[in-house]
Amino acid sequence: MNAPWSVHITQDDWRALLAHLYPGDRDEHAAILRCGLARTPRGNRLLVHDVLYAVDGIDYVPGDRGYRKLTADFVLQTAESCADDQLIYIAVHCHGGTDRVEFSEIDLASHERGYPALLDITERPAVGALVFARNAVAGDIWLADGTRVPIEHLEVQGRPRIRLHPEPRRPAHAGEAYDRQSRLFGDRGQDILATQRIAIIGLGGAGSLINEYLARLGVGELVLIDPDRIEISNLPRVVGARRWDARTLLTAEGRPEWLRQFGRRLSARKVDIAARVARTASKTVTVTTVFDDVLEPDVAQLLTACDHIFLAADSHSARRLVDALTHQYFVPNTQVGAKVSLVESTGDVADVFSVVRSSLPGVGCLRCAQLISPILLQEEAKSLSERRRQRYLDDEEVPAPSVITLNAIAAAHAVNDWLMGITGLTSDLVDPDRWISFHPLADDIVEYSQRRDPRCPNCGPARFARGDAKRLPTKVR
Ligand SMILES: [Zn+2]
Ligand SMILES: [Zn+2]
Repeated sequence: MNAPWSVHITQDDWRALLAHLYPGDRDEHAAILRCGLARTPRGNRLLVHDVLYAVDGIDYVPGDRGYRKLTADFVLQTAESCADDQLIYIAVHCHGGTDRVEFSEIDLASHERGYPALLDITERPAVGALVFARNAVAGDIWLADGTRVPIEHLEVQGRPRIRLHPEPRRPAHAGEAYDRQSRLFGDRGQDILATQRIAIIGLGGAGSLINEYLARLGVGELVLIDPDRIEISNLPRVVGARRWDARTLLTAEGRPEWLRQFGRRLSARKVDIAARVARTASKTVTVTTVFDDVLEPDVAQLLTACDHIFLAADSHSARRLVDALTHQYFVPNTQVGAKVSLVESTGDVADVFSVVRSSLPGVGCLRCAQLISPILLQEEAKSLSERRRQRYLDDEEVPAPSVITLNAIAAAHAVNDWLMGITGLTSDLVDPDRWISFHPLADDIVEYSQRRDPRCPNCGPARFARGDAKRLPTKVR
């Protein structure tokens, strides 16, 4: 397992941990993180499920070998709770200093004495420790197979997103192509964009715009997921789609139905159109296309190794999956959509809006906001032919109204918000618990914050930060 190890923590836990480690007395303080684990080919992520704060003088006391130590009682109790709850034990303490940090000889010697036993007690694949300076972190992770690995970085999954390393890093020069935007983000911001792997679910109207924006911004990797081919009626909205992609010679109105059917089968996949757009926009982008349903277990698994998910497909099962990925695997998501609602009796337009809902681990849940309908989940679980046979959803066959400009305002806002967050430009006073909708008929923008149900199956403790220990809500094989 050569992939790098990293630690991921929510903004709330991070703020509380900083307040505990740095109360202003310039002394050393300690805590224990209990973490879930996500193993991907791209990296092993320790996901902070909760933090146990060591009380000075009771749990964290003067040491016989070093300056301070955690008491044996505190260590043992926590290790046993890790075994019970299947979480990984990571001790943390702070040193002085600002931008670089390393363990002392005494710290490392105490790991050598204690960690083999802790691996036995916790029965987990790893135990370890982190040491902090104000803007730096180093880690010493012990694996059950006897190897010992450092921490590559710690990431605070908030807005702004914060990344700490053992010592300052010098970013690569952004290059002339990105000169104008790196004047805003700096070389560091451009460097962050180049290391991102971003998934887009749904490459229709909104998703195709998000794809174009991300590729032009210089995002390093795109994972594009959509099981559909382009149709004539998509052409006014899908960025980069050509009439030829929809085989309009065969599929145009007035052609015999058998010819139109044949043409539809030959039409381009939406993911391939998006890949073409991305590669035209960027010389360096790596594109993975998935012409399949995101609910297939192996497709969903790809998402666990991404840094962010844009959900631009209007399916409640995809919402449930993405919700779970955000809170279980700490992969944040932004759901975008646009809707035109009609007055049932007259068919007149009642409201037109686009919406952007972004969720960070522990903040913002589509299920808590009642945006995942159990009835629609059941319907979506049935095959299309089953649904047709039952004729429940006759009106589902009537396509909803859709306009490129409605998609564009949501897509631009969604990407902008993400961009400012990961490049660290967002003010840390921004409330991440905030969703927004745009209503052009009333020229109105509405913001709303969300409720949270502490026992929610998507964002509550049963799933929160559990990583690989819990099954994702995909199709069952
Ligand atoms: Zn130390
Ligand atoms: Zn929830």
